[in-house]
Amino acid sequence: MKFQPIFNAQKRPVLIAGPCSAETESQVLTTAHGLKDLGIDLFRAGIWKPRTRPGAFEGIGAQGLPWLKRVKQETGLKVTTEVATAQHVYECLKYGIDVFWIGARTTVNPFSVQEIADAMAGTDIPVIVKNPVNPDYKLWVGAIERLYKAGIRNIAAIHRGFSTYGDSKYRNVPRWQMAIDLMQEFPDLEVICDISHICGRRDILAETAQKAFDLNFDGLMIEVHPTPDEAWSDAAQQITPVQFGELVSSLIRRDINSNDPDYLASVETIRRQIDDFDEEIIHLIAQRMQLVREIGYVKKDKNIAIFQPERWRALADACRRRAEKRELSHDFVELFLEAIHQEGISQQERIMNDGVQTTAPSSDLWEHD
Ligand code: PEP
Ligand code: MN
Repeated sequence: MKFQPIFNAQKRPVLIAGPCSAETESQVLTTAHGLKDLGIDLFRAGIWKPRTRPGAFEGIGAQGLPWLKRVKQETGLKVTTEVATAQHVYECLKYGIDVFWIGARTTVNPFSVQEIADAMAGTDIPVIVKNPVNPDYKLWVGAIERLYKAGIRNIAAIHRGFSTYGDSKYRNVPRWQMAIDLMQEFPDLEVICDISHICGRRDILAETAQKAFDLNFDGLMIEVHPTPDEAWSDAAQQITPVQFGELVSSLIRRDINSNDPDYLASVETIRRQIDDFDEEIIHLIAQRMQLVREIGYVKKDKNIAIFQPERWRALADACRRRAEKRELSHDFVELFLEAIHQEGISQQERIMNDGVQTTAPSSDLWEHD
């Protein structure tokens, strides 16, 4: 896929701001006037609101579309809203909405995305695709592909985090790697970070915005409301236009690259060492897996189960203790242990189930895994 940019390539970060929901005409206009001199690229307001539970405010509906038209006329800002059905697309086309966005609860459903793509075919309206509520990378890319196949080329993506159960600092956990993977697979796709829906609360917006900057997102989507505490939806995460201005000016924009010879020389030296370590790590892991396979043969021979909980617990605890002393984060160590364990189990499963010994055990080191 080859995308055309929605936003001005010379201006970074792209800023999308506005209320979670359009509530009243004056609330929409007050927000837009509060934002118009703060360098935003797109004014957002949800007209149809997919709420998790019934009874919450489900959006003002099509009667709010003329308010967005007024925002355009009075401020010159471009406007965007969420579309979730073909009917929404047709209504937005009537009112000259500049950009559409597809929400997380819609991206998750290929029927809905296809319906929107079909309704948009033949238009040249740019569309921004939020990640699905669940961390399914292919579903996100699949939604983008459906729009692309309908002939739309002005496509961007929004990372808004993923639903989670239980305690978390975030309303929607970021799982940053998925956005990074998207940027890597599609270098010309603009990827925006919706920090409001990731955080779900005001106090961590700034640090999360800085994190998004550091990961080189193209821009931010932030919910802004004239009186956030009184907002009809997502009150806890919205900020005033003034707070928005302060937040944006507090961010440090880091360069993607530099031609400074000192920088290049020191980075180059360190990178060479990192490459050597990476090579060594792969080599060591391959050797470890060779041993794991040897144990697989012994277990198979003696009819012993693959998973040995006590051995694993002792091994994992020893790793955790060593890692703790070496500035490795708890989360990383857990991920590492899980990956190592899973690979070990699947290597042994192959031996147990396929039966044929294809690799002769070549090491005389023994380990109980
Ligand atoms: C929104 O942007 O207000 C919204 C409903 O977002 P999401 O689809 O990310 O939940
Ligand atoms: Mn919202």
